[in-house]
Amino acid sequence: MQEIRKSTKLDNVLYDIRGPILDEAERLEEEGYSILKLHIGNPAPFGFNAPDDLLHDVVVNLKDAQGYSNSRGLYSARKAVYQYYQYRQFPDVDIDDIFIGNGVSELITMTMQALLDNGDEILIPAPDYPLWTASVNLAGGRSVHYRCDEQADWQPDLDDLESKITDRTKGVVLINPNNPTGAVYSRDLVERFVRIAERHGLIIFADEIYDQVLYDDEVCHSPAAMTEDTLVLTYSGLSKNFLAAGFRCGWLVLTGYKDTAGDFIEGLNMLANMRLCSNVPAQLGVQAALGASLGGYTESAKLLAPGGRLNDQRNLAYEMVSSIPGLSVVRPRGAFYLFPRIDTEKFGISSDERFVLDFLKKEHTLVVQGSGFNWPEQDHFRIVFLPDIEQLKAALEGLGRFLADYRQNR
Ligand code: PLP
Repeated sequence: MQEIRKSTKLDNVLYDIRGPILDEAERLEEEGYSILKLHIGNPAPFGFNAPDDLLHDVVVNLKDAQGYSNSRGLYSARKAVYQYYQYRQFPDVDIDDIFIGNGVSELITMTMQALLDNGDEILIPAPDYPLWTASVNLAGGRSVHYRCDEQADWQPDLDDLESKITDRTKGVVLINPNNPTGAVYSRDLVERFVRIAERHGLIIFADEIYDQVLYDDEVCHSPAAMTEDTLVLTYSGLSKNFLAAGFRCGWLVLTGYKDTAGDFIEGLNMLANMRLCSNVPAQLGVQAALGASLGGYTESAKLLAPGGRLNDQRNLAYEMVSSIPGLSVVRPRGAFYLFPRIDTEKFGISSDERFVLDFLKKEHTLVVQGSGFNWPEQDHFRIVFLPDIEQLKAALEGLGRFLADYRQNR
């Protein structure tokens, strides 16, 4: 029998958040060890619940969710998304330009499939949320990474970005608030980013899945609210802001200059039609979720405020990681992650993957190596700070203990 091989289309596709090291963690679990999984931003296993109103709407209306919906999503859900972005001052929001998907993940993949010809380029931040790079490559495009600057609180280096624009560049991704760095960008930065896109006629892909996961009075400044001269696709959903990642519900809204985008939008509609529709029960929760956001009151707002659980965990994680000799980290202003730098000389580290594996085997805690986020060096890793204070403290004490005598290349 001939070997059955995966498609060569997957040659340049990487998704280490659920990669080979997770397989090793699962193997250890099968041996009876209990593994603390700090590798994925999944709030529910750490005791976070979606808002009651959202769950209530899903449960009460479940009987009406048995059929396919409109391929772009239930009208009521899209209307709620429409109102939310009108409130956020996005110009020209049209209900027909809103697509509900099985998470932002599906919509990112659909977008790239609909847009890219072989060799087309998309500018993506480094570090990134790796699905962006993977989706571009899978669609036959070329992902080109612009650097975010750790010395400047991980803001995008706009000179680097602009220097990488070519005649094949179709669009540019901004992840704000950022995964994996926790950065939240200033209005000035986002405006300068938008002006570059306008100048070069680039589509903006604004990944705002954490737009309400903000600490310290930060605000999410959206490119969509700042331009009518270039096309903007803004993505968000229920997974993070509303702690309902398992529902698999996200949305995409197209705004800005659409006059020349009819053909691309037709492509998006074709792909939306081909997958029939996104999970309908989850769409029933969108109205309650976004209604609460418009009222200025959400369950997660309490968790994020000073004294709230997420805020306390963010502070503890930042302080404990900063105090470990050989690590340094920028204080996160949004999302659920820290992206610490490791002193590779001190620990003799030449492989961040090996570092993560050694830590897993010794302390039974799973994190993700920086190179898994398309970071070009071997000197970072990402930690999720979702566990409660006691568990987080124990895990980070474990990290300190592990590093106290770690040398990779003895
Ligand atoms: N974008 C970013 C930056 C993320 O961190 C994630 C998930 O972690 C996603 C998109 C995917 O979100 P969803 O659960 O809506 O598919």
